[in-house]
Amino acid sequence: MSAVAEQGRWIELGAGVLARRHAELDLTTGLVIGAKACLAIDTRGDAAQGAELARAIRERTPLPWSVVLTHAHFDHAFGTPAFRPCPVWAHPGCRAALAADPAATEVAPPEELVAGSAVLNLGGRIVRLIHLGPAHTDHDLVVQVPDAGVVFAGDLVEHEPGGSFSSESFGADTTISGWPAALDGILALRPRIVVPGHGEPVDPEFVAAQREPLAELAGLCAAGLAPEDAVARSPYPRAVTLAALASVSRS
Ligand SMILES: [Zn+2]
Repeated sequence: MSAVAEQGRWIELGAGVLARRHAELDLTTGLVIGAKACLAIDTRGDAAQGAELARAIRERTPLPWSVVLTHAHFDHAFGTPAFRPCPVWAHPGCRAALAADPAATEVAPPEELVAGSAVLNLGGRIVRLIHLGPAHTDHDLVVQVPDAGVVFAGDLVEHEPGGSFSSESFGADTTISGWPAALDGILALRPRIVVPGHGEPVDPEFVAAQREPLAELAGLCAAGLAPEDAVARSPYPRAVTLAALASVSRS
């Protein structure tokens, strides 16, 4: 854990809709501000980082906040204690994953649960929380801000330097067969801007372009090929392909 969390950088995506970029893991968090309340999207990776984010939000708005967790991975969720007491929204699978993670003892499991979709009213602005099926994890939530045309996609979309995905993208909790459909679900929301869980905000064309090779990789994973054959045919580098194959064999 870092004693002093590095400062992030805000990006304005629309009136009262912001992404914050962080040096650690190239993480991207979000903030949506309404007339009566604000919503923090993900909380960074530990208590100090969460406190830094909470302070930074307080420099933008004095309004009471809620938190939504896009998924249970530590870099997105473990800063949550800095925001409590407040409502914390997540998919039931996120709650279960946090409750089962011995590293998450400080993170009280979310209690505002969304299995399908939910609408939050921030005052003069609604925000939709939507589960698009198992993909990066079995419990990813995306956050749509309809009036701004912005979707916060968590790790369903990643904009890593030099490519879309890293070997970290595919874990034991990944369902790669469901991932292309989840990207279709994001595109169906007709966003102007999509905010990835890591990296700079992107346009829908980036997401559409990411979907095709991902569907190809999902097909290779389902084909039961020998790893070297899958690597040879994969649109992704070797390490990424092997991580995707391993995620399938573990599930
Ligand atoms: Zn993740």
